Amino acid sequence: MLPSPPAREGQLGFLYLPPYRVQGISVAGEQTVIQIPELDVAFDIGQCTRAVLSVPTIALSHAHMDHLGGLPYWFSQRSFQKIGGETHLPDKPDGKPRVPVGRCVCHPELEQSLRGMMRAWEPLERQKTPFEIVALEPEKDLELKNNIRLRAIETRHTVPSLGFSVLERRSKLKEEFRDLPQEKLRELRTRGTEITRQMDIPLIAYTGDTAPGEYLVRDEFADAKIVIAECTFFEPDHNDRARTGMHLHIDDIIRMLPVWKAEAIVLVHVSRRTTIHYARERIEQLAGADAGRIHLLMDHRSNRARYDAQVAAAEDANKPPAPPAEELPRESQEDIPNAVE
Ligand SMILES: [Zn+2]
Ligand SMILES: [Zn+2]
Repeated sequence: MLPSPPAREGQLGFLYLPPYRVQGISVAGEQTVIQIPELDVAFDIGQCTRAVLSVPTIALSHAHMDHLGGLPYWFSQRSFQKIGGETHLPDKPDGKPRVPVGRCVCHPELEQSLRGMMRAWEPLERQKTPFEIVALEPEKDLELKNNIRLRAIETRHTVPSLGFSVLERRSKLKEEFRDLPQEKLRELRTRGTEITRQMDIPLIAYTGDTAPGEYLVRDEFADAKIVIAECTFFEPDHNDRARTGMHLHIDDIIRMLPVWKAEAIVLVHVSRRTTIHYARERIEQLAGADAGRIHLLMDHRSNRARYDAQVAAAEDANKPPAPPAEELPRESQEDIPNAVE
């Protein structure tokens, strides 16, 4: 008898939560990489998928290998495939370096070790892979793209850890000027009066691996349009395991439902031992009317059905389907016709 070929692997989870795509792979202890193409960011890089090569920024929640393992390869491939790289050009006239091949944003305590990890490759490969490691202090922001900021939020895991919030900075007219006519506003502005105030609108929040804590009720999580939450355990008797590993349990997520206003809560980092079917069943049992806004990133079957319905609705509305099929990650396209989980 012939041996069987290896199992197909590596299908990306995919959810279209307008206007954002949430795509990637996340299984507890194995790998987590979650990409938001529209926001130019990926959370964690446990594995370097082909799709994640296109984002310029990795926001690293912590340095467990299932969240970090793909980073050196990502830097290397970005350089090898000349993606986003301007580093072959001389420095800009103002002395600032060109956009690097990619950057990884991390907890300040990880900065030196991550640099050391990248440098360890140099004598092995006999070449230097360009990389940028950016330490982001908790409570500090960093610009991802125009008006879009990444904020680091300290969480609690077995190692130094961050959650992240992606915020949009908008200028709003101050209350006191609201009823003034345009010409008056223009006049005030030319006289140098600050007539607007800045507001940060939370778009997406990511918990990373974490024990439950007060940070989960912050505005960045409560007001986010999408919350991407670790949820490793679903079994009623696995609360102890969640506490020991400093992870979230479905009971913790349920407690957050009245606080999180998000249209969509995307659960990631589900343990391999938990079937998607069982996880879905527990969500239905515990979340009541909120079950409809809870998604499992790796529930390929439900997510595919949901996307098909979105395409059909878009066609009905006589609009082109969004996003166009060719924008789906390549892995998904290949695997969709007979997606199984
Ligand atoms: Zn993990
Ligand atoms: Zn971890």
